[in-house]
Amino acid sequence: MKRFIALAAAAAWLTAMPAAAQLQLRTKVATMQEMVVSANPLASQAGARVLRAGGNAIDAAIAVEAVLGLTEPQATGIGGGGFMLYYDAASKKVTSFDARETAPAAANGYYFYDAAGQVLDFNTAVFSGRSVGVPGTVKLWETVSRQYGAKPLAVALLPAIELAIEGFAISPRMAASIDSYKASLAQDANARTYFLNSDGSGKAAGTLLRNPAYAQVLARIVFTGPQTFYQGPIARDIVGTVTIDPRAGGPGSMTLADLEGYKIVERTPVCGNYRAYVVCSMGPPSSGGIAELQILGILDHVDLAALGPNDVRTVHAFLQANRLAFADRNLYVADPAYVAVPTAGLIDPDYISTRATLLTTGPLAPSLATAGTPPSVGAAGTADASPPRFGGTSHVSIVDRFGNVVSQTITVESGFGNNRLVDGFILNNELTDFSFDPGPDSAPIANRVQGGKRPRSAMTPTIVFTQDGKPAFVAGSPGGASIIGTTTQAVVAMVDFGLDPQQAANQAHFQNNNTGSTTLESLFPDGGAPAGSTGLIGPFDVRSLIPELTALGWSIPASPSVLTSGLSLIKVVPGGLEGGADPRREGIAAGR
Ligand code: GLU
Repeated sequence: MKRFIALAAAAAWLTAMPAAAQLQLRTKVATMQEMVVSANPLASQAGARVLRAGGNAIDAAIAVEAVLGLTEPQATGIGGGGFMLYYDAASKKVTSFDARETAPAAANGYYFYDAAGQVLDFNTAVFSGRSVGVPGTVKLWETVSRQYGAKPLAVALLPAIELAIEGFAISPRMAASIDSYKASLAQDANARTYFLNSDGSGKAAGTLLRNPAYAQVLARIVFTGPQTFYQGPIARDIVGTVTIDPRAGGPGSMTLADLEGYKIVERTPVCGNYRAYVVCSMGPPSSGGIAELQILGILDHVDLAALGPNDVRTVHAFLQANRLAFADRNLYVADPAYVAVPTAGLIDPDYISTRATLLTTGPLAPSLATAGTPPSVGAAGTADASPPRFGGTSHVSIVDRFGNVVSQTITVESGFGNNRLVDGFILNNELTDFSFDPGPDSAPIANRVQGGKRPRSAMTPTIVFTQDGKPAFVAGSPGGASIIGTTTQAVVAMVDFGLDPQQAANQAHFQNNNTGSTTLESLFPDGGAPAGSTGLIGPFDVRSLIPELTALGWSIPASPSVLTSGLSLIKVVPGGLEGGADPRREGIAAGR
């Protein structure tokens, strides 16, 4: 009975969501023992329920992700992959799990070329069988649940199974995503039936959606084990869908052996000092952690606290640090099993100090930043010139009552990934995160396609510790390449400016990913609030700095823009926790 009330309350909450004009700046949520922040209220509530039932942060992370696969399928799910950063309170150890998708063994540097030797157009590649990598999420659940979970997978997956069977109300943001992808979703019979009405329009917000196929997959995982996803009928459905492909761009080369052989890699996180803290995040194949530590390490040379968040010098320094970090990222970072990534050199404090000397307080050099030469770097390849990609992803931050911390970002890449639904879940298009161009044989691009390789990511799941090793902040966001700047800006806001997690999430973003164009986010009133926004961004309008920043050499498009972030932030405070969820999405902080 209780859960029907919860469902009804969630549906009422969604329909009562205020119109854009009535949005307010959101304020922080505080709890005493435990907290879950995700981009969807049903998912946060599922995580909080598992914590209440005796689960720990790992169990809650699984519960949240399983629900997000239902309620935010445009962003994340079991057909995709990602990274989990985990702090284990008992052993005081921080570790990371790499659940990134892999390319099929048969793929090579020309995987995104057509039969005539022409490189595929990006969207053709996204919707083709080529883009689909071997999914990592379910294997992640198996690995972390076995190693650190307190409850069986049955407990963690129950909320999602119930919602899939009983149905949930489509949220405004999900409805808007369905509407913008309706043409491509219509190309897939399963996706068409599930997401669209019979006249081809997208199902509206508030529509009750049931997903028995997804419930069955989760039940199979509970009763026969997660390997069922990689070996049984589900694996056959994935391979069948990807390889029997009438679409432009051609079929994928994924085989049952690729799925059966998929492995999670536990990796040492990358960590570095920032002010009085130690910041840890995900190392390669994500570029997120290295770039975040470089940006912070460069900014450590600037007294940001004295300048404050709204000073043009703060924004100028941040944009330059972002740019310098992206120059290194584009040259050096890829899957470390395939390419010698100079990770230690890239986050070496002395190297970062030499990069910091390139900051100017006056006008910029007219050219873009070039990569530096970190210590012990081998022969460099060719820089990846692919344009930054921005798609669909979701970040989850959790602190449990034992002090364990999860910072997890999982993605299907573009909105609805590959735009095909198999057994109730969306397939990813993660392989389009590779460089389509392999580069010259003499100096190949580090992030070129290779069989079994993981594409470079920008995901930046972060945990910030005090110098004596206590968790202080948890952060992360979706947003493709902009994840790095968005997450780092939130860390700076909390560490340097003392903003609480919600104030940090409310801030307008500013970014330069070492391209000619700089993005300064508009406040909603002039940019138009995206569907599903649950609060205003601001209060400071960073676009008021455009004249001064233009004089400093930044080229800023006149058209208003909103970045697709989805920050989920937690701050550990004396006696409890404070949480903030990105007002650009529907998320909430839940807990007790
Ligand atoms: N596929 C992207 C990455 O791993 C994330 C996509 C997004 O957040 O939009 O970096």
